[in-house]
Amino acid sequence: MSESERIAELYAKHINPGLARLMKFAGVDGVEVFAEGVWVYDEKGNRYLDFLASFGALNFGHRHPRILEAVKSQLDKIPLSSRVLFNALQAELASELAAITPGKLQFCFFCHSGAEAVEACIKFARLATGRRKIVAMKNAYHGKTLGALSASGREIYREPFEPLLSWFVHVPFGDKEALAQAVDEDTAAVIVEPIQGEGGVIVPPEDFLPFVRKVCDDVGALLIVDEVQTGLGRTGKNFAVEHWNVEPDLMALAKSLGGGVMPLGAAIGTQKAFEPLFDRPLLHSSTLGGNPLACAAGLAALRVLREERLAEHAAEMGKLLMNGLNSLREQFPDLIADVRGKGLLIGVEFANEDFAALTAAGLLQRRVLTAYTLNNPRVIRLEPPLIVQPEHINQALEAFAEALAQVRNLVAVLT
Ligand code: PMP
Repeated sequence: MSESERIAELYAKHINPGLARLMKFAGVDGVEVFAEGVWVYDEKGNRYLDFLASFGALNFGHRHPRILEAVKSQLDKIPLSSRVLFNALQAELASELAAITPGKLQFCFFCHSGAEAVEACIKFARLATGRRKIVAMKNAYHGKTLGALSASGREIYREPFEPLLSWFVHVPFGDKEALAQAVDEDTAAVIVEPIQGEGGVIVPPEDFLPFVRKVCDDVGALLIVDEVQTGLGRTGKNFAVEHWNVEPDLMALAKSLGGGVMPLGAAIGTQKAFEPLFDRPLLHSSTLGGNPLACAAGLAALRVLREERLAEHAAEMGKLLMNGLNSLREQFPDLIADVRGKGLLIGVEFANEDFAALTAAGLLQRRVLTAYTLNNPRVIRLEPPLIVQPEHINQALEAFAEALAQVRNLVAVLT
């Protein structure tokens, strides 16, 4: 039995047999053993070009040397906090996040994941306004804990766990009229991804996010932006809301905040959003959130983002990738329905789910890692590490062209 067969069996026996089947069906037969930059290596020495980057958690690539060094050096000092003395790294990271995030965001609560960051934002918004209603978007993805799931907008993930939290209302993303109707004096917050990631990489109409800001201001509701996937340079700006000059009251961050080395999430808010926590600082807490190891990674990550000008680089590389994909769309109009996105968050929408799955499998055969978006299986997302170079983009585009040609041949044989 090969090593990958052995691991697949352990998955089937002890993780989830359905997941093991799904991965096999998608053509996965490697076990990841090493990674560096844009590359992942399996146990047989095969090298894969990573154009998924752990769903956007690897903006800085695998094992960025400066981030790795910061974490290694912290490991030898104090990896986890005593939780009694001051934790300098947490304080410094909070201060840097306040400086780099838009508007008046000033206070940070640290956790480990996107879902937890969203949970915190929802709780803080309810506390700060004394209101309960949260207006969220259809097709949104905010994570799968009960609170984050209540804000998420896809039935197949929600329905088995109902009743979810009450006072959540969903409106179509980009629909100003529906939003204006839903937001009222009972509304604590509107929660929105600036660009819907798992929803299929949906960029809103130009005037939508400024309108959301205005509607919130009109009734005294807070604006929560979920930048878990779009943040930290991914879309060609440090934060995607900067494309529309919108200043949120609360922001959820995670994924790449830990520099691709540590899990780290944060809910960042204005004075107004955090104020009720000042005389009850333990009302919301996390034992391991904001630990020194994760914060060392986060601080190094922000330094790399700034000094390597990764947001600008992502904008440039995004144009290259987008141009290449648009020409593939012209060559394969029977398979590709749309190509869209910003910076290095790009979605390729296929005419149907089968074409998307076959193309993703074809890319994997050619050792390019991608995946469909969780709320829209017709869309393959391309979100390589932001350190990607033109030669990597060309290699991915070549593989994409070959995979599409293969799918077209297959369809011709079957029909
Ligand atoms: N928000 C957004 C916008 C996301 O894309 C995701 C994950 N894809 C989450 C929240 C949830 O993050 P996590 O999986 O770390 O809980």
